[in-house]
Amino acid sequence: WLSVTGGFSSPTASDCYFSGIIMDITEQKQSDLRRSKFIGMVSHELKTPLTALKAYVQMLNNWAKKQKDNFTIGALSKVDKQVKKMLNMINSLLNLSGAEAGKIHLKKEVFRLDSLINEVVEETLFITSTHHIVINPRHTVNVNADREKIEQVLVNLLSNAAKYSDKTAEIEIGCVLHDNNVEVRVRDQGLGIAAADIQKLFLPHYRVESKETEKIAGFGIGLYLCAEIINRHNGKIWAESEPGKGSTFKFTLPLK
Ligand code: ADP
Repeated sequence: WLSVTGGFSSPTASDCYFSGIIMDITEQKQSDLRRSKFIGMVSHELKTPLTALKAYVQMLNNWAKKQKDNFTIGALSKVDKQVKKMLNMINSLLNLSGAEAGKIHLKKEVFRLDSLINEVVEETLFITSTHHIVINPRHTVNVNADREKIEQVLVNLLSNAAKYSDKTAEIEIGCVLHDNNVEVRVRDQGLGIAAADIQKLFLPHYRVESKETEKIAGFGIGLYLCAEIINRHNGKIWAESEPGKGSTFKFTLPLK
């Protein structure tokens, strides 16, 4: 692997010079890959006990419901929320290590995109508690895609919409059918994003630096992963925004 940094300069019209550095970055690439592999392994190991924990919470919840024990039901609901948040983070880390190693494997199947949107809205309402999410427009649409990965894209976009806007503001999600593809939109009335940042949002580890965003925790990998997943499906993803008024994130998936 070679990395070339530098630039051309032209002291006279006829002469052209290149000044720069040529580096062997094999070492760096290999250590990046080792890091990715390590993150992948650790995330995988963490996922197994968390999945078991989630199942036990579910079991206890069923038991508490039978006993009509509202205190336990309330406490378990809080545990469940945190476990779901952790599982979402672990899934992002797993996908990050896969994406960095150049391999996002798709397990495609035909499924109802509108049903998946309903499920993700329910889950986001549960995890973020107070946001008002409206599904509009609603269309019945079948897609041939990786359900789990598209779910992750929807979870990322909806949780960002909730994270970067006021708890009482409305969020809208919907899908529109075109001739060759379906377009999904997630609109919020939050902070908005400046034009200069919009180009860079989908780069790995990119976060907008501002007084408002510095108080909000994040790794800057969610949108990068969304873009990797949508690109692997031959779709497109982009954002439109008016600073101070809100943002709309859109992606397309091809229809057969
Ligand atoms: P994270 O939210 O963990 O920082 P993301 O990759 O999901 O990482 O987002 C990258 C950046 O894009 C965020 O740090 C934030 O500055 C900006 N961003 C994403 N979604 C929104 C949104 N709905 N409204 C305003 N800014 C957003």
